[in-house]
Amino acid sequence: MDQMLYASTNGQTPTVGLAQALIQGQAPDKGLYLPVSIPRFAPGELESLRDRSYPEIAAAVLAKFVSCTFPPETLEEMCREAYDFDVPIEPVDGRRYVLRLDRGPTASFKDFAGRMMGQMFGRLHRDAPGRLVILTATSGDTGSAIAHAFYKIPKIDVMVLFPPAEVSARQRKQMTTLGENITAVGVQGKFDDCQALVKQAFTDRTLAGVQLTSANSINIGRLLPQIVYYVYAAVRLTPEGGPIIFSVPSGNFGNMMGALLAARMGVPVERIVVATNQNDEVPRFLETGRYEKIVPSRHCISNAMNVGHPSNFARVVSLFGGWLDETGTIRRMPDMEQLKSLLWAVSVSDEETRETIRRAWHERRLLLEPHGAVGWLGLERYLHEHPSSAIAVSVETAHPAKFPEEIEHLLGFTPEAPPSLAELELKNERFLTMPADYGAFHRLILDTYRS
Ligand SMILES: *Cc1c(COP(=O)(O)O)cnc(C)c1O
Repeated sequence: MDQMLYASTNGQTPTVGLAQALIQGQAPDKGLYLPVSIPRFAPGELESLRDRSYPEIAAAVLAKFVSCTFPPETLEEMCREAYDFDVPIEPVDGRRYVLRLDRGPTASFKDFAGRMMGQMFGRLHRDAPGRLVILTATSGDTGSAIAHAFYKIPKIDVMVLFPPAEVSARQRKQMTTLGENITAVGVQGKFDDCQALVKQAFTDRTLAGVQLTSANSINIGRLLPQIVYYVYAAVRLTPEGGPIIFSVPSGNFGNMMGALLAARMGVPVERIVVATNQNDEVPRFLETGRYEKIVPSRHCISNAMNVGHPSNFARVVSLFGGWLDETGTIRRMPDMEQLKSLLWAVSVSDEETRETIRRAWHERRLLLEPHGAVGWLGLERYLHEHPSSAIAVSVETAHPAKFPEEIEHLLGFTPEAPPSLAELELKNERFLTMPADYGAFHRLILDTYRS
């Protein structure tokens, strides 16, 4: 098989192979990498996956993108190690389902990408000299997913910077109870301070002796694993290859990109409902054709979706022939007819989100948390306007037990925590604290990692 190449959405830089795209993260022209062409399933291939396990389906899908870098037997092993948890598809009524992506180690869908990134980076770096240090700043969920993804991966260290005043106790414990190759650092400041420190370290030549890299949300390695669960749901729920609708609660648009790529690969997707909170720049773009980022982003209870300029939207625009640059300027319009025939976008308010959590529980015993509720209401709205006999799947991106106060307030009980969250209470925390000062951060990096 020929090597799959990856091109930047800004188109100002040469194409690269997978390993380079993974290590670089962002393309040198500040664009995002996408496969030069999207591989398609062979006739009969989807049907043949119907009875396979999640790791087997993952290996079959990912092979189309990574086979030159990771041969089939290696890839199968990677998928078995990454995906050792359940992926429940919960029936709601006749044709509607909720896909729960919350059974990984940090109870959010970010584990699907994180766990595979851990495998990919671990294997790529295994025979290279020295240790690789992943620096990341977090406002909560990403840092814990990255920390768990790289936990005990040989020859890789992780340093996570977080603002203690801005993360919940549970989020903090997800980062501070690991130890081993994971170093958690509480920065006396805000999330923006953490991010500024990490950015400065990446451009600091005096740190050249330490191999620093990021594993941030725009990395192509985060995107590819997110195709798999859409293929999984489709082959399980539509054995005759019938049409399927996905509703995806969206913030930075990485998750919905997985559904879009699955559709391009040949999964018979009727529509992708893109449900946002009040950060509604994309629903507005679909309505008006004008893209205006929202600065600063709006604070909503589905807090992992508070993104006013989703970086992955450049990839969506690119797949429909347009060009959205890193500043948020549309340089070439995508084919809006085509785009709107596959994507349907809707914005949901906090009040509607809370009402949906109440209603889903009281009417159907369907337990949702704020992000999943945005997706569910989005699906209801879509089906109300476009009656369809297709199977419809709404994606639940986090475990309700991650939002105990909100659920308790709305439903009068605290959801039971999955084992991964419950165990946190018993573990010891260990983390460093540091002022939001680059000099101190620079010393910390050298003291921790200089060999
Ligand atoms: C990150 C996150 C989202 C948003 O996903 P995107 O890929 O950024 O659109 C939704 N829900 C939860 C729980 C998340 O952590």
